[in-house]
Amino acid sequence: MIGISACLGGQCCRYDGRHQEVSALKKLLDQKEIVSVCPEVLGGLPVPRDPAEIVGGNGHDVWDGKAKVLTNQGEDVTELFKEGAKRAYQALKEQQVDHLILKDKSPSCGSQWIYDGTFSGTKIENIGVATAYFIKQGLSVQSETQWLAQQQGGN
Ligand code: SF4
Repeated sequence: MIGISACLGGQCCRYDGRHQEVSALKKLLDQKEIVSVCPEVLGGLPVPRDPAEIVGGNGHDVWDGKAKVLTNQGEDVTELFKEGAKRAYQALKEQQVDHLILKDKSPSCGSQWIYDGTFSGTKIENIGVATAYFIKQGLSVQSETQWLAQQQGGN
């Protein structure tokens, strides 16, 4: 089974209360061919919420205790992000998901790019907190950009 970031399936779970729908993924979701999760919402974060970035490293560094997730107001939301990743993984495991298509540039779901922790719009090649956890548990991941390129290449 394939799992996706819930915002890619049209769920309004982003920090700004919006979604990031990819119509082809929404269609697959509606047909129940894939499933979706939002780690941040599962971690107990509200919608909308203050934007957050990883400060001091990448998703793996957060799990190693070397980096934190902070909001733009300076609130430490590291534990909520970690809890959300664990709950998302449990939900994915129950649905026998082994591959994920994740929203890139998110501090949770980023798999190619994340923001650099300065809240200046600067991207770095790295991965988010949930993505690091999913990889550690043996799931394969790709960004929605990679998936879309793959679809176009296959047509
Ligand atoms: S945590 Fe992931 S699924 Fe949830 S809004 Fe952010 S990118 Fe989308």
